[in-house]
Amino acid sequence: MTIRIGIAGITGRMGRLLAEEVVAANAELTGGIGLDAPEDRAFELFADIAELAAASDAVLDFTHASLAQSHAAALTASGKAWILGTTGLSAADEAAVAAAGEHIPVVQASNFSPGVNLVLALAERMGAALPDHAYDAEIVEMHHRQKVDAPSGTAIAIGRAVAKGRGVSLGDVTESGRHGHTGARKTGAIGFAALRGGQVVGEHSLIFAAGAEQILLTHRAFDRRVFATGAVRAALWAVNRPPHLYSMMDVLGMS
Ligand code: NAD
Repeated sequence: MTIRIGIAGITGRMGRLLAEEVVAANAELTGGIGLDAPEDRAFELFADIAELAAASDAVLDFTHASLAQSHAAALTASGKAWILGTTGLSAADEAAVAAAGEHIPVVQASNFSPGVNLVLALAERMGAALPDHAYDAEIVEMHHRQKVDAPSGTAIAIGRAVAKGRGVSLGDVTESGRHGHTGARKTGAIGFAALRGGQVVGEHSLIFAAGAEQILLTHRAFDRRVFATGAVRAALWAVNRPPHLYSMMDVLGMS
């Protein structure tokens, strides 16, 4: 049976790539919703998320955080799988996503790249294995000049994974954006530095620096398509799964 996939945000940068990847995966592209759809479009434009979900087995959602709660309600009512890539969600949005996961299969990831999810798994293990009094953890990221937030969601996820491995809360140990007379580095801190320039898709390095050795774990994304390929893989995986809030680690069998 061919799996039918719809795209919320089909007119966006990610949406256009997702449409290509759905077809490349031999799934059926039902169509999508999005603003500013061109007159000569090659996809079906639905009136709203409920109509899109009704026509699809899974909905890929790469839109805007302001839509998260209404999409959670519509997807829950439809009973279909929801693959959520939108970032910048508030605590209330996250609660709505978690509630949806009690009724439908939801795969949520701030980064659908398989490589980054492997980095997250390793970061937690490294945080647990390398004691914070001896190994200083620093995260350096670089992105294109248009990016408006820092540090990136992925950098924060890496920091959270290290903190989890160390049994601490990231908020208690973050040192971000050092400038001027900052004083010495605090023992146990997890540091962040953000670089911006050019059209860098996304680079993240996790560094553990000790007196006698240093470990670097680096991920470089060269093409946004890696996120689209991962999200379509998640959609094919999620259809017909029991209701739950899954992560990309579940899809990759790494949880
Ligand atoms: P974009 O601005 O190019 O596209 C956004 C899409 O959402 C467009 O189709 C737009 O029409 C649609 N949209 C926005 N507001 C809408 C509304 N009120 N009603 C209907 N449609 C609406 O953005 P993008 O670069 O494609 O990114 C979209 C989201 O995906 C962002 O939150 C971004 O951070 C996230 N993202 C996630 C990953 C990941 O791997 N999880 C990767 C890249 C981007």
